[in-house]
Amino acid sequence: MSTIDHWVAGKPSALASTRSAPVYDPATGRQTGDVLLASASDVDQAVAAARDAFREWSQASLTARTKVLFAFRELVNARADDLAALITAEHGKVLSDARGEVQRGLEVVEFACGIPQLLKGDYSDQASSGVDVFSFREPLGVVVGITPFNFPVMVPMWMHPVAIACGNTFVLKPSERDPSGSQLVARLWQEAGLPDGVFNVVNGDVEAVDALLDHDDVAAVSFVGSTPIARYIHERASANGKRVQALGGAKNHAIVMPDADPAFAAEHLAAAAFGSAGERCMAVSAAVAVGAAGDALIDEVVAQAGAVHVGPGNADGSEMGPVITAASRDRIVGLIQSGVDQGATLAVDGRGLVVPDHEDGFWVGPTVIDHVRPAMDVYTEEIFGPVLSVLRADTVDEAIALINANPYGNGTAIFTSSGETARRFQRGVQVGMIGINVPIPVPMAYYSFGGWKDSLFGDKHVHGPEGVSFYTRAKVITSRWPHVEMPSGASLQFPTMT
Ligand code: NAD
Repeated sequence: MSTIDHWVAGKPSALASTRSAPVYDPATGRQTGDVLLASASDVDQAVAAARDAFREWSQASLTARTKVLFAFRELVNARADDLAALITAEHGKVLSDARGEVQRGLEVVEFACGIPQLLKGDYSDQASSGVDVFSFREPLGVVVGITPFNFPVMVPMWMHPVAIACGNTFVLKPSERDPSGSQLVARLWQEAGLPDGVFNVVNGDVEAVDALLDHDDVAAVSFVGSTPIARYIHERASANGKRVQALGGAKNHAIVMPDADPAFAAEHLAAAAFGSAGERCMAVSAAVAVGAAGDALIDEVVAQAGAVHVGPGNADGSEMGPVITAASRDRIVGLIQSGVDQGATLAVDGRGLVVPDHEDGFWVGPTVIDHVRPAMDVYTEEIFGPVLSVLRADTVDEAIALINANPYGNGTAIFTSSGETARRFQRGVQVGMIGINVPIPVPMAYYSFGGWKDSLFGDKHVHGPEGVSFYTRAKVITSRWPHVEMPSGASLQFPTMT
């Protein structure tokens, strides 16, 4: 069984940690590792390493920083299969999905390789007589990423490549459930030539998180996780004067219109609901069938759900793996039962699934619950498992109103063949990321990722232009170079431009 250390100042280290937590292979249910949990003084050491490294890294030229970014890009690409294997071993998702996760993270690294272009300032020549005005952006200092279990490599990569390219130094607090990918990422940064101390990892739980939120030398916090913790992080770090972006949970709806191809919609809905066992913040967990779309859709979705091959993530042919923990499985099973108790129709029941030779794994099969109503627990709770709830609406406006009444606003989609309906939907929904016949509309790295309402606290989305803005602050310079022919123009009145 492996012990998973922290990574501070360019090397793996146990620091002074005395506590640890078990890490499991969710497909077997067996413990495979023990991750160290940082204390406040451990966090202090990691932040000190990052603070020390900031002095030089923030002064490194754009050329020097870009060279490291390009080298890191090559190394992540070369080691993508190793990263994917680490993800699958601790998260459980199938290897092809883990490989896709690494690819989407790599795209953020590629975006960050263009940092010289992204950090170009503005320049106004002769804004006033003999006066020029220009602006540029500077890094913040030590910035922190606190990330969830469901994308252990990609979600941190939404943050650290952009933060580091902007000249900050970084302390990552990854999920304690699947921490090993972050250790390999730290090694790859080092191999790429990143100076020691610029990228650090502290493993831990609430004690480490609180120490980071309260640390005087931390300038900004990026968080991704569940809504209650996102709200807490935002409040506490903001109260401590830090810049914060805290992305929370989701309940993503997909509307299916009667004019959509039911087979196409069902195939994509099933993929969006059951891929990665529904443990994606952009998973579709609620389908809203409009008018006559409902019955045909249910028949097709039931067929799709029954055809998903569930098995260990590293086995050939597996399309969906286990969920993350036994506690998560039990919670999902309990929520499915609540749907039955509250009057919904269980169209496909994934409870009690047995995977041969993996009887102790954390399994829940694809589940479809029909005739769900907004007051039911399966609708109000973020289930975060392979469970698709189907609701019915008479019109697209009713479906849009249902989405807007939901407290979350992460992602949403519509299946339709009408441009007019699609446009009404894209303009009417109060949601940050919208798909038209695209059920998981995760923006490309050169756009920014983020939801609305209870899916994001703070005003900046991650990566893309908003990520660059989050990790930098602006200076605006107004300059004059007096010479003998220039009138002085000095006056006690408030300066105006002429
Ligand atoms: P989580 O909120 O339990 O944990 C996220 C991070 O917060 C982890 O690093 C964890 O150690 C830490 N944490 C947990 N409890 C804490 C506490 N009481 N105090 C301080 N820190 C604490 O989330 P999770 O279960 O790891 O991930 C799943 C959740 O993340 C889902 O709700 C999912 O929707 C959400 N998520 C959102 C996005 C998005 O972009 N909006 C992306 C991925 C995941």
